[in-house]
Amino acid sequence: MSKEKVILTGDRPTGRLHIGHYVGSLRRRVELQQAADYKQMFVFIADAQALTDNIDNPEKVRQNVIEVALDYLACGLDPEKVTIFIQSQIPELCELSFYFMDLVSVSRLQRNPTVKTEIQMRGFEGSIPVGFFTYPISQAADITAFRATTVPVGEDQKPMLEQANEIVRRFNYIYGDTLVEPQILLPDNAACLRLPGTDGKAKMSKSLGNCIYLAETADEVQKKVMSMYTDPLHVHVQDPGHLEGNTVFTYLDAFCRPEHFERYLPDYPNLDELKAHYTRGGLGDMKVKRFLNNILQEELEPIRQRRKMFEKDIPAVYDMLRKGCENAREVAAQTLADVRRAMKIDYFSDAQLIAEQAARFAAEQ
Ligand code: ATP
Ligand code: MG
Repeated sequence: MSKEKVILTGDRPTGRLHIGHYVGSLRRRVELQQAADYKQMFVFIADAQALTDNIDNPEKVRQNVIEVALDYLACGLDPEKVTIFIQSQIPELCELSFYFMDLVSVSRLQRNPTVKTEIQMRGFEGSIPVGFFTYPISQAADITAFRATTVPVGEDQKPMLEQANEIVRRFNYIYGDTLVEPQILLPDNAACLRLPGTDGKAKMSKSLGNCIYLAETADEVQKKVMSMYTDPLHVHVQDPGHLEGNTVFTYLDAFCRPEHFERYLPDYPNLDELKAHYTRGGLGDMKVKRFLNNILQEELEPIRQRRKMFEKDIPAVYDMLRKGCENAREVAAQTLADVRRAMKIDYFSDAQLIAEQAARFAAEQ
């Protein structure tokens, strides 16, 4: 670890943030911020990316920008330590994507497993917007424009980081050493790599409507926990239960800490014992769900409280975003100046080029 680290991540403003974002990336960002072991940290709201599959619903994206910003602040991201900005306000990102498009083949994009799944999920098959299809390229631009070294994200982003690295290597090979290869920082807890939805589906995702949102009221959270997918074979309390694909236990893996047992379930010393009892039979879903609910409420309550506080001064949040955009734009502009120089499209800032051309044409006269 060195102070040379540049950390960057983003979220699509397609809805409020949920506990999948939290365990997959947001919690890590706050920890990184606390550790203060970085040169710069950027967190951005990917509105341009959100438009790639919401082109006819700009109002949804517009409304959710502030929701995501509030979720950031509620989780503890501090604009004094982290530059928070909105993607569309940095035109340099668009320019960089345009150059990167020449470095990636269509077949390479078609092989991206995350894009494949997302195309299916959205029913795009025959009519994929080009912007959506190419979003791994624009994501590479988002990362490299800020010379990010470290990208804390969920597992679904692995193919994006691989794509970004390929682009960087290809760019540097052709144009000389200019861009930085980013490294993915995955959650170290397996349950957090890709938190399933409350319906048991593979991924909690705004687009699937199976989320517990960070800003939800205590009652709403409780209702969702109590109706969560568990083990369809565990019908009676005495039946042996299964842990595999059991969402309640996956969430416990993601959120439970030893002290939670002392506070909420002192009959059990730890999660392993709870799991063993469930597997043996004789432990009802309701008891486990109530335990999970207590844990989630404890984690979410301070987030809800902080959000309420920031909601009281919305103009200040926009002001914070505007300043973040200005700072981010300066950094991206520097990278773009290097990129243009490397790509030999910096005509007017290259006095030597003009002098050489003048001399060449003079000699031909
Ligand atoms: P959408 O459905 O609009 O794509 P999303 O819920 O997938 O939304 P994103 O904005 O695409 O959310 O993802 C933002 C970040 O949160 C990424 O780093 C992603 O890896 C992480 N993330 C999203 N969902 C999960 C999840 N269920 N588990 C772990 N990490 C997640
Ligand atoms: Mg997503």
